[in-house]
Amino acid sequence: MRKLLITLSLLFLATHIFAQKTYIHCGKLVDTKSGKVLTKKTVVVEKNKIVDVLNGYIKGKAKGDASIDLKNKVVLPGLIDMHVHIEHEFGPKTRLERYILNPSDVAFNSTGYAKTTLLAGFTTVRDLGGSGVNISLRKAIDAGKIVGPRVFTAGKSLATTGGHADPTNGSSRKLVGNPGPKDGVVNGVDDAKKAVRQRYKNGADCIKITATGGVLSVAKSGDNPQFTVEEIKAICETAKDYGMHVAAHAHGDAGMQRAIIGGVKTIEHGTYMSDATMELMKKHDAYLVPTITAGKEVEEKAKVKGYYPAIVVPKALAVGPQIQGTFARAYKKGVGIAFGTDAGVFTHGKNGKEFGYMVEVGMPAMEAIQSATITNAMILKMDNEIGQVKKGFFADIIAVDEDPTKNIKTMENVVFVMKDGKVYKK
Ligand SMILES: [Zn+2]
Repeated sequence: MRKLLITLSLLFLATHIFAQKTYIHCGKLVDTKSGKVLTKKTVVVEKNKIVDVLNGYIKGKAKGDASIDLKNKVVLPGLIDMHVHIEHEFGPKTRLERYILNPSDVAFNSTGYAKTTLLAGFTTVRDLGGSGVNISLRKAIDAGKIVGPRVFTAGKSLATTGGHADPTNGSSRKLVGNPGPKDGVVNGVDDAKKAVRQRYKNGADCIKITATGGVLSVAKSGDNPQFTVEEIKAICETAKDYGMHVAAHAHGDAGMQRAIIGGVKTIEHGTYMSDATMELMKKHDAYLVPTITAGKEVEEKAKVKGYYPAIVVPKALAVGPQIQGTFARAYKKGVGIAFGTDAGVFTHGKNGKEFGYMVEVGMPAMEAIQSATITNAMILKMDNEIGQVKKGFFADIIAVDEDPTKNIKTMENVVFVMKDGKVYKK
């Protein structure tokens, strides 16, 4: 027994003194903080952290040190998408699936979406609404049982009765009950507080509300305000008590204004945002999450007969084409932009398309990358841990073939992915 203990402690010492380091040789390295593309750097990784960033190509001297050759690649910090739905992927059967899929089916599907997302270079995502499987998925990823990005999840979104995220919209009354705060349906200030506390209890990291009507719900309006300012204030104040921020889905201007005044941190989509609301965003330090890719997708799919329920089609055709233009106006007005795509409304793993759409209408490529790294890290209160390739940060590192400041489309084809010091794609 004594002998075994001595052997074990020697082994422990050996692995800790001579811990293996990985030396990544980067031909180019995007420094998201300074906005510069650096050349010939070596990033040193030990366990799940970046322990050094050195000039030139340096090799490890200790036994067991490894190196990774990315000399003809461009290296970036892992990307962050502020708006995904990691549990689902929208399709013509989505409404039916609500009644035929069990949570276990949803869970198995979600593992595939999580892996696809990570391999596309998105090492962190904010998941803005699902059934609650998203919380279990996060736990499984954190425990190393499943391959996927770091997940910050809202659990189940909050809506008012008949609102965009009321899970019983358009369903037979025989099949559904009367959903309340537990199911994410709130009416009044007390319900609002209760629903936030329930999300905290369930293990959510943030809160998502549907401040206005939406495109894909089976309801007539895609943009009407759906919460009172008092309800939104109650949600935001309660969320703050539990260390959570609030994201608001919003297409219509009136609902958006209420959400910003109520204290939300991010406006999702922002479709019909007026100039006055843009000024309000700046005043309240709120960020726009554009989701241009989702806008393009719903516009395209609305033209496919039978893809969406009839009530959805006119909404998709009206809202979809607006989003990119609103983003361009908001960016020019100086509204803070937090990169986010709404993946799940379109195919998971295509998140990188958003970069091209942002650059196409006037945002410089470096700013689009900064939006998907340092800005999002800051909103998630992770700006000392992710969003930069920097000493002390998590070893979330990706690479692309070309310099994205010269060809942004390269962001759609991530060729190397490391998360937490572990290589997933090479
Ligand atoms: Zn969404």
